[in-house]
Amino acid sequence: MRDVSIIGLGPMGTALARALLQRGARVAVWNRTPAKAEPLVAEGAAPAASVAEAVKASPVVVVCVADYPATFRLLEPGDVAAALAGKVLVQLSTGTPEDARGGQAWAKERGADYLDGAILAVPSQMGRPESTILVSGSETAYRESKALLEKMAGSVPYLGQDVGAASALDLAFLSHLFLGLLGFYHGARLCEAEGLRVADLGAMLASVAPAIGGMIKQDGDVIQAGTYLGSESSLDTCARGLEMIVRQAREARIDGGIPAFAAGLFRKGVAAGLGDESPAAMIKVLRKGG
Ligand code: NAP
Repeated sequence: MRDVSIIGLGPMGTALARALLQRGARVAVWNRTPAKAEPLVAEGAAPAASVAEAVKASPVVVVCVADYPATFRLLEPGDVAAALAGKVLVQLSTGTPEDARGGQAWAKERGADYLDGAILAVPSQMGRPESTILVSGSETAYRESKALLEKMAGSVPYLGQDVGAASALDLAFLSHLFLGLLGFYHGARLCEAEGLRVADLGAMLASVAPAIGGMIKQDGDVIQAGTYLGSESSLDTCARGLEMIVRQAREARIDGGIPAFAAGLFRKGVAAGLGDESPAAMIKVLRKGG
């Protein structure tokens, strides 16, 4: 027997398996394209000949493939599903909360204890202090896999038995990340148009990241409390700033689609009479569905 089986050896599954091996875990691996297992086997992993063999090899089975449909294609066949009974199944492929609830129900029907996880890091960070894997679902599955998960990531917060919580927070994080990145890409075009170095913009934003984080945390507290008045900066001020970015795009003849989209939403906030409130009052515009 091994300690843990990793099914899926893309960049992330490989990084998880490697972090486990480097921290002394006995690891079995399986991948649809077998050649990807070879470097890990050279590092001490045991290659499984089939998905069923991988499931049988360890009490804890971690899946990290492209998505949930790919997971089910691998785990549905009868011999695999039968081997899952009594095992802890940890799903680390990215999905929605609904995917996670479906995964839990599917695993329960087959007698497996199910934990759903979301990785907030890139492969090169796995095993390091800055990596996080959020997990939610069965508490017994969490307890049985905790020591292994802590070899894969620096921090493994358990969010409780609501199995959709990890993927919900993951998608909320990705919403912040990707939409923030779009804002950065527009800022990069702005710098290009003004003859400034984009690398300097990146470095400047990295240095102010803790202050931005503080503002986001404050907005979270405001929305949670539902008290939007008395903020240091108003929705009006933010709306005017966005209009300025839209005007600069026109003046510099660059694509202004990203700031125009954001300015349009803030205009709705101003039109709804929320100008004197915290910018967090934009949540009221979103609650109305735009
Ligand atoms: P990926 O391209 O999302 O997944 C590649 C893995 O999925 C490979 O093992 C691939 O097998 C397997 N796969 C895809 N379709 C399959 C199918 N129909 N049947 C069997 N296996 C299938 O790359 P990844 O970066 O390793 O990501 C894995 C998961 O981690 C994803 O859900 C991703 O969202 C999540 N994640 C990734 C990152 C990151 O930075 N990379 C960060 C956080 C979370 P083959 O090798 O045979 O093609």
